Amino acid sequence: MSVFLNWCNIRCVRCQCSAMKGQSLCRMCYDALPFNRHACSQCALPLSELGTEYCGQCLVKAVTPFCVTAPFEYGGDLAWLITRFKYHHDFRAGRILLQLLLEHASFHSLGVKNRLLPVPSHPTRQRARGFDPVAWLANKLSRKMGWPLLRAIKSHSAPAQRTLTRHQRLQLSSRVFTLDEPAVGQNIVIFDDVMTTGATLTALSTPCFQETATSVKALVIARTPKGGEFDNMQANPGSPHDTSF
Ligand SMILES: [Zn+2]
Ligand SMILES: [Zn+2]
Repeated sequence: MSVFLNWCNIRCVRCQCSAMKGQSLCRMCYDALPFNRHACSQCALPLSELGTEYCGQCLVKAVTPFCVTAPFEYGGDLAWLITRFKYHHDFRAGRILLQLLLEHASFHSLGVKNRLLPVPSHPTRQRARGFDPVAWLANKLSRKMGWPLLRAIKSHSAPAQRTLTRHQRLQLSSRVFTLDEPAVGQNIVIFDDVMTTGATLTALSTPCFQETATSVKALVIARTPKGGEFDNMQANPGSPHDTSF
């Protein structure tokens, strides 16, 4: 009986209304999440026109040299959960993000027998935060999916990425990471919380391709919509996504 009463009293983490069964959000907050239902098949950019398969940029030149899976757009309460987790050490928000990812990402498109390669946190940021949020999520995701972790280390000290143009960042990106074990013949899924420009994911894919991985894909929780880079930086001042390597 007490278990039943406790369950009845679970409150939405966002608005304090009664949460849905098995969820940490109420129906209204859950339905308002920015699901990325219609996205570019290559880079997962949210698309506004139904019937299109690729974004304008990927039609000219692929934004990323691998397919990206992103079940949510970066915005709304999804951005609030990420901010709560990363900058306020709210691990309940981290668990909700992981649950949402597991429920809504199209894992069938990622295949099986994968290695999970989380984007490593910048050491300075990790020290400032006291933990590595992407590694925390990746450890749990690795266990849930049965995908062993693969780790990368930053191989060069790079200048502050925020001071560089997108083109300069992409040029620099090819020599920033090395893998801590061979990737030959592996199916690699690169993992990050948010993708904005794709520069970090592309940088991390370079050693995977160089080491002749069998396949390289990327999984992120949320994809910044077109024109949303500024909002992203406003929400997370000093920590823009994709520019932290
Ligand atoms: Zn709510
Ligand atoms: Zn695209």
